[in-house]
Amino acid sequence: MSERKDIKSLTFDELNNDFQILHFPSYRTSQVFQWLHQKNITSFEEMLNIPKNIRQTLSERYYIAVATIEKKQISCYDGTVKYLFRLYDGELIESVLMNYHHGYTICISTQVGCKMGCTFCATGKSGFSRNLTPSEMLSQIQTAQSDNNIRIANIVLMGMGEPLDNFDNVMKFLELVSCDKGLNIGMRHISLSTCGIVPRIYELADRKLQITLSVSLHAPNNTLRNQTMPVNRKYPVEQLIKACRYYAKTTKRRITFEYAMIDKFNDTDSCALQLVQLVKGMLCHINLIPVNTVTETNYRQSQKKQLLHFAEILETNGIPVTVRRTLGSDIDASCGQLRRKHIP
Ligand code: SAH
Ligand code: SF4
Repeated sequence: MSERKDIKSLTFDELNNDFQILHFPSYRTSQVFQWLHQKNITSFEEMLNIPKNIRQTLSERYYIAVATIEKKQISCYDGTVKYLFRLYDGELIESVLMNYHHGYTICISTQVGCKMGCTFCATGKSGFSRNLTPSEMLSQIQTAQSDNNIRIANIVLMGMGEPLDNFDNVMKFLELVSCDKGLNIGMRHISLSTCGIVPRIYELADRKLQITLSVSLHAPNNTLRNQTMPVNRKYPVEQLIKACRYYAKTTKRRITFEYAMIDKFNDTDSCALQLVQLVKGMLCHINLIPVNTVTETNYRQSQKKQLLHFAEILETNGIPVTVRRTLGSDIDASCGQLRRKHIP
């Protein structure tokens, strides 16, 4: 018998097609889909309204993806929870659950590791292992929900990995998670963060989803960006900004530019002015983040005074700017850090 299929990565229609071929009555599709997506079961035996012979067939043909809790850290400042999840093949990934005023938000991973090698990033330093399946992205949300007995309202694809480097699986995940027969989390409650894989930004724009696009910019010119983000050598700043303008125009959604402030590297007044020129006239806003210090890098956070001054320059030039509140600062809540500590 061929390899078992990943049942939780199938859309409702795909599952329905499979079930037709297996001659299951069509109402079984709704029942099984509900068990998988709304009830978060981890084995076919738990599907109580499904007859034993069908469960048997299912377990021979399919497997159910899970994310089991390997380790959990809770911030004593703000209750942010950081999970280290174990996947079926023993790989480890991270997710962070935050409680904002507007409900629970989870930051999920899209790959085990990352190929992009940004120098300030703990994930980038660990190399790449494999892509996550749509079901493994869903499982992170489901396990966090059942562990806390909550409903998660918002998702950010900002954990380990580069979502646009795992494009097809991420698109499928978006379809599944927003499906009304599934977790039913609307696209407007989802953000996707990218380091700037330009052709995929165009492709995403043309799909006209209602998600928020975050772009990790972190530098206003190629000289600086090349030093910290190798992806910039392939897709330089001008091309990236052009793609972002296309995205904002096509989707009419505001883009967020993430900008990690590194002391005396990208936080000068001149950088702020270059940034103004770069994004002028675009439907966007800039999110300034004090860079998280990762072991083995010697990047230091900008001085608070300079960070505020930088923000002021953007603001007086008409660029909307926010300074990110850092949650979970006592638990290495910057993705990639916990896994890196765990793997010798
Ligand atoms: N690969 C995607 C999404 C995952 S990284 C991307 O790069 O956008 C999520 C965010 O964390 C990105 O904005 C990334 O630039 C940022 N980040 C990574 N390491 C960081 C650090 N040490 N300090 C602050 N932000 C960091
Ligand atoms: Fe990958 Fe994003 Fe980290 Fe860069 S910042 S190495 S793209 S996860």
